[in-house]
Amino acid sequence: MGPTPAVRRIFKAFLMNPAADGRVEHYEPGYLLTSGTKIARLSRDDPSGEFPDAEFIELKGQTILPGFVDAHVHLPQYAIMGKGSGELLTWLANYTFPEEARFSDPEYATRIADMFFDEMIANGTTTAAIYSSVHENATDIAFRTAQSKGIRAFIGKVMMDRDSPPPLQEDTEESIDVSVRLFDKWDGAEGGRLRYVFSPRFAGSCSMDLMTRVGRIAKDRKAFVQSHLSENTEEVAMIRRIFPESPSYAGVYNSAGLLHERSLMGHCIHLSADEIKMLAATGTNAVFCPWSNRTLRSGSMPYHKLREAGVHIAMGTDIAGGPTLSMLQQMEQGRAIAGVSTDEALYLATLAGAIALGIDNEIGSLDPGKDADFVVLEGDTVAEVYVRGSQVYFMKP
Ligand SMILES: [Zn+2]
Repeated sequence: MGPTPAVRRIFKAFLMNPAADGRVEHYEPGYLLTSGTKIARLSRDDPSGEFPDAEFIELKGQTILPGFVDAHVHLPQYAIMGKGSGELLTWLANYTFPEEARFSDPEYATRIADMFFDEMIANGTTTAAIYSSVHENATDIAFRTAQSKGIRAFIGKVMMDRDSPPPLQEDTEESIDVSVRLFDKWDGAEGGRLRYVFSPRFAGSCSMDLMTRVGRIAKDRKAFVQSHLSENTEEVAMIRRIFPESPSYAGVYNSAGLLHERSLMGHCIHLSADEIKMLAATGTNAVFCPWSNRTLRSGSMPYHKLREAGVHIAMGTDIAGGPTLSMLQQMEQGRAIAGVSTDEALYLATLAGAIALGIDNEIGSLDPGKDADFVVLEGDTVAEVYVRGSQVYFMKP
């Protein structure tokens, strides 16, 4: 007996496929043929004659999109989503840091991780770049939970070795040792669907020694890094004070070796022309988090300037700066704030994130050969979510 043939399904629906930057294909209707975990064909013609054994699923009036890629999100802020007020630095001190300190308790970390991933999936997000808290155990739990839910996750513990509240403040050596241990344990696990991301929180909570060593370690291991850049004017002034020798905020990260093609920088709002050039020249990915920026009154990313300069841009929800894990609502904010079109917003929320994470050959569009990760929309509501061909969520009637 040979291996069991892969289950084939044909989905008939409206389809939107972000095939490339500036090119979203619309199928009204179209047919998505999946075979096992993969997309086998995307066509305007019904392939059921050729595949008579395939299960035929007609999604009347519904739309299929690729699974969303959330390129910037904080798991340990799930419970304070939509709560808190004030601008970045006071919001961090009053709401975020006390909440993240609770993740020293593995029971709490387990409970929140479970809810976080379930809600993420229910919102159609099938891949995410995630900040955990400083804790090794809580980060392990985040990885194990992502593993059990089956989604793709790039996760890193935040690193904070200066000017942080006592329960979160780390020793430099310890911060690096723990991060490397987690990298060795998780990076590339689950057939590469789990990746570790070195996550120095931001220059205001990291020493130059820490950042420089992370820069070297990530380069040696071809690892991803993520951090925050120029979110808020007070924060920018603080970084100038702490690093007077650096020409700019982006310059701090650049001298630490943290700006490159596997680097994701959240926000990128208050940037000089030189800093924008630096991001483009280093291939750094900027992550646009429009709703978070609005909530914390941070300003808004000079989206069109960055694009014109050739900076690659992805999109993130940045909870709990942002009030929701919905990438659909993030797309809506992107349209309102930066005037991007519906097609461009879809590209930002899918393929652009896959490109930033170096996995656009595997996910990010409905092109054949990619993982069958997709979302079925009923109006503007997520009705069903598939990960590698398996239904992982459906809206309860
Ligand atoms: Zn953030």
